[in-house]
Amino acid sequence: MSRPFVNWSGSLTFTPSDYAEPGDEDEVRELVLRAREAGTTLRPVGSGHSSSPLVRTDGVLVSLARMSGVVDKARERATVRGGSRLKELGEGLYDAGLAMDNLGDVDYQSIAGATATGTHGTGLGFGNLSTQVTEVRLVTGTGDVVDVSPTRNPDLLPAVRLSLGVLGLVTQLTLDVQSRYELRRRAWCAPVEWTLDHLAELQHTNRNMDFYWYPRSDLTQIRTLNRADEPPESRMWANRRVLESGLWNEPRELRTGPTHRTIPQNRELRFEEIEYMLPSEAFPACFAEVRRRILSRHRRTVGWRVLVRTVAADDIWLSNAYGRPTTTVSCLQNTSLPYEEYFRDMEAVFRQHGGRPHWGKKHWLTAGELRPLFPRWDDFQAARRRLDPDGVFLTPDLARLLEGA
Ligand SMILES: Cc1cc2nc3c(=O)[nH]c(=O)nc-3n(C[C@H](O)[C@H](O)[C@H](O)COP(=O)(O)OP(=O)(O)OC[C@H]3O[C@@H](n4cnc5c(N)ncnc54)[C@H](O)[C@@H]3O)c2cc1C
Repeated sequence: MSRPFVNWSGSLTFTPSDYAEPGDEDEVRELVLRAREAGTTLRPVGSGHSSSPLVRTDGVLVSLARMSGVVDKARERATVRGGSRLKELGEGLYDAGLAMDNLGDVDYQSIAGATATGTHGTGLGFGNLSTQVTEVRLVTGTGDVVDVSPTRNPDLLPAVRLSLGVLGLVTQLTLDVQSRYELRRRAWCAPVEWTLDHLAELQHTNRNMDFYWYPRSDLTQIRTLNRADEPPESRMWANRRVLESGLWNEPRELRTGPTHRTIPQNRELRFEEIEYMLPSEAFPACFAEVRRRILSRHRRTVGWRVLVRTVAADDIWLSNAYGRPTTTVSCLQNTSLPYEEYFRDMEAVFRQHGGRPHWGKKHWLTAGELRPLFPRWDDFQAARRRLDPDGVFLTPDLARLLEGA
């Protein structure tokens, strides 16, 4: 039955002609075959946390929310259903003595949705979540069930690990996992100059490190995560000026616990976001210009903060960390405030520094601008035409994103 769809931030609304929640792979196949025969589009949706129009369709919107849970687990791998939410997955793996190595800032997403856009956390040693995917099972645009792994259709693996939902409905994924362990989260504030001066050291001496910059105060909040069973990280957290200012004294220990309860945060306040992935060497100049422009042009209207994280290089064709160690910059804006002028101005800076957009967040790029940013772009498009020859998953939004370059 059809009903209006509204994404998490509220900026994407539409009414599909139909909404389906299949219970098994046969029902998924039937939905695809029916859409193909009727010449309508079909879009898979996870938990609706993307704010780019990846899931918008006037055809059928399909959620695999009923197809969730851990199917099979071994020492260092777990096979899970595509509709599983990260939060439940974290608990399920924990009960089995396992854990995903890294996560993003929240755990509301589905695993298929999160990996479809290259959702990432932070840490020099960690790729995005798609890099944790070792096998994928999907129902393609022809209604076929295809298994992709290092031994089955291996040529498709670099395409299906991050697919924007245009290669098929991902019903099952196998993830690289670890034995569970505990992390300790800390946070403290410091002047932005201090954080930038010490950034490389902070990134190298902590398992995970990121920072928020607050344009209103021009201060930063540094956040670190380290294994609880290892000695505390170095005590380099602030300079004398900071300590004497009375604003901070030393890092606050926020939480210690299993990875899936320590890495993600609760996000009650709704926001819009643009995030670009930069070659790490371009970060200092890019951030300097972001800061200069925000302070000179946008401080009056910018209500919130800018987040800086790192992602390890990978070899996934549409990954925004493809082939390069990456530093990401995201600008967040409360949903009650206008964002477009601000985000477009930031996008211009990010692009000048070789940035690639986060697929699930606001950006204004189309295929012609995206193709030169992804060395294996044409290989991905060839895989797409092979797995979805009739364009069942290709809405006008996705055609603008992927075709005609
Ligand atoms: C509060 C908040 C915090 C966030 N934090 C981070 C962060 O820390 N790091 C980061 O990188 N991103 C972050 N994001 C972005 C978010 O992780 C991505 O937009 C992610 O793709 C959303 O997952 P979802 O399950 O909501 O999928 P949706 O947004 O519903 O869909 C995303 C894509 O996945 C596809 N898809 C969904 N299910 C399937 C399936 N079964 N088979 C095939 N394709 C499928 C869809 O078609 C679409 O292309 C955040 C977003 C919000 C709103």
